[in-house]
Amino acid sequence: MRPRPATDFLAGYPDALVAQVRQLIDRDELAERLLRMYPQAHEVRTDRALYDYVQDLKSAHMRSAVPLGKVAFDGKLHVAHNALGTHTTVSQVQGGRLKSKREIRIAAVFREMPEAFLRMIAVHELAHLREREHSKAFYQLCLHMEPDYRQLEFDLRVYLTHLETTGRVLWPACLPQQGRQAEG
Ligand SMILES: [Zn+2]
Repeated sequence: MRPRPATDFLAGYPDALVAQVRQLIDRDELAERLLRMYPQAHEVRTDRALYDYVQDLKSAHMRSAVPLGKVAFDGKLHVAHNALGTHTTVSQVQGGRLKSKREIRIAAVFREMPEAFLRMIAVHELAHLREREHSKAFYQLCLHMEPDYRQLEFDLRVYLTHLETTGRVLWPACLPQQGRQAEG
């Protein structure tokens, strides 16, 4: 048996389902399953590319919501504290008027993931532009943008459990060493 991960990414899911995930990890079968379900890594590597990615989703589904300010990967967001993404409102005076923009930060671990998982967290943070709490309306908005939202969130949490237990990244970015850019 492998040690239990410190973070309970699967809190709230049925015990039988969680037990099944743990068993797959113990048998070293989970990685293969996840890779079969999500064979490809996405190519959104930079903050610029992430901004465009999130902006495209916003344009498609939430055009009238508060404009996006900064969108960035954040290496300081700790997935272990269940901080997968954050959203903050930044107010600036422009031309004598107060304008709000929304900043979205996405945990750096999402840089090396399949596109479906990135889409899930982007949809989550975009839904917060309209709904602050994780209310029924919030999840309806998530499902409107991504009909598979609930399945993707579960699969993501399964992967995070795998990652914390085994330390093995399943979709490494494979960037050349010198190609790694500084954050920011
Ligand atoms: Zn949230």
